[in-house]
Amino acid sequence: MKFGGTSVADAEAIGRVIEIIRGHITRYPAHRVPVVVVSAMSKVTDRLVEIGRLIQDGDGNKALSIVAELHARHEAAASALVSGDALRVLLTQITDDFTSLRANVERWMSTSEVTPAATDTLLSTGELVNSRIVAAAFTARGVRSAWVDARRVLVTDREFTAAAPDTERTTERARALVAPVVDAGDVPVLGGFIGATVDGEPTTLGRGGSDYSAAIFGACLDVDEIQIWTDVDGMLTADPRVVAEPYLVPQLSFAEASELAYFGAKVLHPSTILPAVAKNIPVRILNSRRPEVKGTMITADGRPHAGLTALACKRGLTVVDITSTRMLMAHGFLRRLFEVFERFKTPVDVVTTSEVSVSVTVDNPKRLDEIISNLWTFADVNVEREMAIVCVVGENLRSEPRLFARAVTALGDVPLRLVSQAASRRNITFVLRDADVTRAMNLLHGELFTAAVAS
Ligand code: ASP
Ligand code: MG
Repeated sequence: MKFGGTSVADAEAIGRVIEIIRGHITRYPAHRVPVVVVSAMSKVTDRLVEIGRLIQDGDGNKALSIVAELHARHEAAASALVSGDALRVLLTQITDDFTSLRANVERWMSTSEVTPAATDTLLSTGELVNSRIVAAAFTARGVRSAWVDARRVLVTDREFTAAAPDTERTTERARALVAPVVDAGDVPVLGGFIGATVDGEPTTLGRGGSDYSAAIFGACLDVDEIQIWTDVDGMLTADPRVVAEPYLVPQLSFAEASELAYFGAKVLHPSTILPAVAKNIPVRILNSRRPEVKGTMITADGRPHAGLTALACKRGLTVVDITSTRMLMAHGFLRRLFEVFERFKTPVDVVTTSEVSVSVTVDNPKRLDEIISNLWTFADVNVEREMAIVCVVGENLRSEPRLFARAVTALGDVPLRLVSQAASRRNITFVLRDADVTRAMNLLHGELFTAAVAS
């Protein structure tokens, strides 16, 4: 069970986490206790990043004042959750962690340099300290628990700030250091995001890496389910800023989650849970403020359900139509065309072709003028701005051909510029005017989701 920054933001939030764990243990007395992975408290990693920046800018005093501020914030949370001897021990540990951070900051200040390795030492403070607090708070509130130093479990390569796990070693360590705690009936609490090289140098997996840690630990320990606890109910059938009342998506496949992530519909980044999906371990997204909500389950293949899975949109795109100046598509035309986009490092998203022309959508128009003048040397080019992609996603599109017809019919008189169904056949992509996005999304949602997901 992984709890993100907002779920462990302060003593009150950590209190909710304790009740979630207690509830889980009471509800499933025959199960093993869960393994808990926590992020830093919300915004702490951002503040630590700022410390690094200030050191490099030569503003050491400001950096040290942030160290003091973070120390006070963690002390306050600890004091609100733990008491007596346990609190004294915890406060000593927290002070030790911040004293060594302070000493490091002073050392880095002398050269105004923070190397990638130093950055990881700096950033790991957030998860390190918070995991200690959460473990102590569990015990203080009657949930037997043990802090496990994630840096001793998650073994990584030396790619500081974006380290990759060494699965074999991490599996050995997880079996040696985490499994026995579970066997004893104590809840192991580890920091996410942080690890260390084989020689014990601290590393991090990259920003937002706690989900990745949870997936790695879950895969190494062969757990039954990985839960990502956050501050939303799960994935929704559409962006609530576009569609007034979207539904919760109860389950989806990993591939669907990946398609939706491209549109920013990500509650978590699918690639971060790959280790779990590869081992066929279901990943569930849950809301720590509303633990009674069932959340969204992501599995390798998805679970059978009726209808479609979700809608997504990407706005403010440009459509470029490129027509060969020869009568028919000469061979080599496509290669030349895409070479132009490659030369100007501009990815294209949707591509449709007819016998004589190719249309592509471009998200980043920065180098469009250069691209167009290059294309003009061998093609006619037409550009339309303020366009958008609306995408219908669902594994069932493969098996239910009628869904395609229903989607197109639902759009009624909304003018469509491009329509494409990729080889995977788990999505239909419509390119239309940005001004029509809200109407298109609501028409599709009303037709395709009201009945299907609510039932
Ligand atoms: N605390 C880290 C970050 O903010 C890792 C995480 O929250 O997943 O990037
Ligand atoms: Mg986070």
